[in-house]
Amino acid sequence: MKRITIAKGDGIGPEIMDATLAILKAAGAQIETDEIEIGEKLFLEGNTSGISDEAWGIIRRNKILLKAPITTPQGGGYKSLNVTMRKFLGLYANIRPTMSLYPFVATKHPKMDIIIVRENEEDLYAGIEHQQTDEVVQCLKLISRPGCEKIVRYAFEYAKLYGRKKVTCFTKDNIMKQTDGLFHQVFNEIALEYPEIENEHWIIDIGAALLADSPEKFDVIVTSNLYGDIISDIAAQVAGSVGLAGSANIGEECALFEAIHGSAPTIAGQNLANPSGLIQGAVQMLTHIGQTEVAETIQNAWLKTIEDGYHTQDIYTEGSSKHKVGTKEFSEAVILNLGKKPSLLPPVNFAKGLQITLPKYQRKPSKKKVLFGVDLFMHWQGTDPNELAAMVKEFMPEEVHLTMITNRGIKVYPDGFSETFCTDHWRCRFKPKNNSSIKPTLIIDLMQKAITHNIDVIKTENLYTFDGKPAFSLGQGQ
Ligand code: NAD
Repeated sequence: MKRITIAKGDGIGPEIMDATLAILKAAGAQIETDEIEIGEKLFLEGNTSGISDEAWGIIRRNKILLKAPITTPQGGGYKSLNVTMRKFLGLYANIRPTMSLYPFVATKHPKMDIIIVRENEEDLYAGIEHQQTDEVVQCLKLISRPGCEKIVRYAFEYAKLYGRKKVTCFTKDNIMKQTDGLFHQVFNEIALEYPEIENEHWIIDIGAALLADSPEKFDVIVTSNLYGDIISDIAAQVAGSVGLAGSANIGEECALFEAIHGSAPTIAGQNLANPSGLIQGAVQMLTHIGQTEVAETIQNAWLKTIEDGYHTQDIYTEGSSKHKVGTKEFSEAVILNLGKKPSLLPPVNFAKGLQITLPKYQRKPSKKKVLFGVDLFMHWQGTDPNELAAMVKEFMPEEVHLTMITNRGIKVYPDGFSETFCTDHWRCRFKPKNNSSIKPTLIIDLMQKAITHNIDVIKTENLYTFDGKPAFSLGQGQ
């Protein structure tokens, strides 16, 4: 018997959780549950994270959480509890399978069967944002080598375990050469360890377009957090409905299973919601905790129920659907089908007793890191970059020269275009005249002099070379 934590959440959460638990019980899942309360009620009581210390304790003790969607109230500084949970519990891999249920669920894509493996802890979801000038705000995109290695390896291991043929990587490394460049580079490195699995890379924009147009081209897709968030909703929707997809959030110790959709407040409490997303999350949970046979029984009964035309309103179509049912009636139909298999849709046969266990991340030997210059970011109300350059040159220490000024990444000095639109957010780049390195104290000297000259320095970024390779972006136009 496995003890798990459940959270019924908000909106349609309680209805779809009750429907899912009824199926788990009828199918003979060997689970005992501890229920915790999280979400809207706690947020509105003044708990800005939406979860109590006691609930954290239960989640950490049981290690497995089956969670219905929650509502994050608008405004008021409430943090997304979903993002908080993924990061605190180290749930680095978000696995989102999506398949077409054609001809029983209307879709333009009868052959779709995709697993999206989304990095779950970093990227723009690090949540580090600042307003720096009157006109400019910033969000930091953090990508780490351990983060990339773990998620890419997980995708290949998943493909190996489930007999998948191809892993595709989506990035935007033609623009973000450092961050997305690292993700792509790690993908290429790890792909070499799996010669039996085909691999490919697409730039995310055309990749997402292809996914919406010809999803049958894809098998397993691995990508970073934000892209994965967006494309998994696209995939679920083009397969039929966001109400159909479940998601597993896997960490080294804990795991969280849920539907991919939100709390759908407008249809809450009316027995209208499709419980399939949470049922799919529960099936992933059962395979994760080794109750593969029960998972298989539920999945085949669910497929047969869809095939029999028992459809909730979100997927109901005249012709292909036979019975328009509510949340409760849908789960009752699944229960009646336990032990049966679909006849047209392929029945599932999950791998038994197999788990994905990744090797511990091994830190690589440090590279030779040299401080090769500095970018000073300034809040300046002027409009002519030549004027800013003249001001900066007045106090600039002897050892460095001003190599460029950019505004929102576009080079505006020297030789800028008068057409370029400029905000009040400027970056001045300083590099050593001897073209080798600068001392860290020079940065303090530069800042001190800038402040004395009434220049509002809002932040600095050090420019490094690693093993002699410049590890920073150039200004566009450079
Ligand atoms: P949503 O997913 O709740 O709803 C989007 C649309 O899909 C709506 O038309 C809704 O009626 C429909 N829909 C969603 N799930 C359905 C289901 N199971 N059956 C039938 N129809 C379904 O997204 P939203 O409206 O952007 O967000 C509502 C709330 O959910 C927000 O507070 C948001 O923060 C929260 N949210 C929570 C999670 C989570 O807890 N994992 C995820 C996303 C959004």
